[in-house]
Amino acid sequence: MLREILKEKERIVIKIGSSSLTHKETGDINYQKLEQLVRVLSDLKSRGKEIVLVSSGAQAVGRQELRMKAMPNEMPKKQALAAIGQAKLMMAYQKLFSEYGQVCAQVLLTKHTMVKEESRVNAMNTFHELLNMGVIPIVNENDTVATHEIEFGDNDHLSAFVLAMIDAELLIILSDIDGFYTDDPSSNPDAELIEYVEEINDEHFIMGKDTSSSSVGTGGMNAKIDAGRIATQYGAEMVLVNGRDVNVLYDVVDGKNVGTYFKANKRENFSLAEYL
Ligand code: ADP
Repeated sequence: MLREILKEKERIVIKIGSSSLTHKETGDINYQKLEQLVRVLSDLKSRGKEIVLVSSGAQAVGRQELRMKAMPNEMPKKQALAAIGQAKLMMAYQKLFSEYGQVCAQVLLTKHTMVKEESRVNAMNTFHELLNMGVIPIVNENDTVATHEIEFGDNDHLSAFVLAMIDAELLIILSDIDGFYTDDPSSNPDAELIEYVEEINDEHFIMGKDTSSSSVGTGGMNAKIDAGRIATQYGAEMVLVNGRDVNVLYDVVDGKNVGTYFKANKRENFSLAEYL
C-alpha cells in the first residue's frame, strides 16, 4: 500500500481554498462548513497530530459584512475587505475552536517574511512555539500590505512555503475538485483523475491549467502543482482532495485512496530561497 506512509505523518499543513469555504450561489462564507472543518481539525489534533491551517476566505467575509453584492476589482478595496474579513473570520475560528477545547492563533505572512532571513527565522520560531504550546496556527497572506510584487498571490504557494519553514511532513490541499486530472475537467469531459504522482514533471504543469472554475478561487491547478513541487522536493508528501466533505481529511491521514497523492521526492540541498 503506497499510502500506508501517510498514517505516520504527524505535522500536517492543511490548506482550504475559498471555493471550499463559501456558498457557490452567493459567494458568502459557509459557516456550517467552517464548523465541520474545525471539528475535524480538533479531532485530528486530539489524535496527536500537529495541525497548521492555511485558510482563505477573508475577502469573502469582508464583502459579506459590508453586504456588497460583487467582489470589487480595485486592489485597495479588496485589501480593505480582507482587513475587515480577516478579523471576523478569526473571530469565527476562535469561537468554534474554543467549543472543542482548542486554542488557535493568527499568523499573517508576506513574501518579505520569507525572503528576509531574519523575519523568516522569527516567523519559524513563532510557529515552533505555537506548536509546542499545542495551539493551531491559522495562516493567511497579509493582504493589507502585500502589493503585487511582494505577494505570494495564492495560498497554495503560501502553504508549501509554510510547510518547508516548519518542517512539516504532509500537505493536504482541499479544493473544489476530486483531485488532479489529465486536463481541466471543466473544459475537457474526457479528463481522467490521476490517483498517484510519483514525481512532478513538466507534463503535469501542462495538464494543470491556471484557470479557476470558481469566481473565488485564485491559484487554479497550476499553482497547486507548483506548490506540490516545492512540498515534495522539500521532502514532504502532498494529497489534493475535494473539500466538499471535510471528513475526507480522516481518509487522507488513514492512508485511504482519495484524491491525488503526490509522493515526496526530497531534493538534496533544498533551499527555500530558490523557490521564492
Ligand atoms: P481553490 O479555490 O480550491 O484553490 P481553484 O479554483 O484555484 O481552487 O483550482 C481548482 C480548479 O482548477 C478546478 O475546479 C478546475 O476547474 C481547475 N483545473 C485546471 N486544470 C485542472 C486539472 N488538470 N485537474 C483538476 N482541476 C483542474
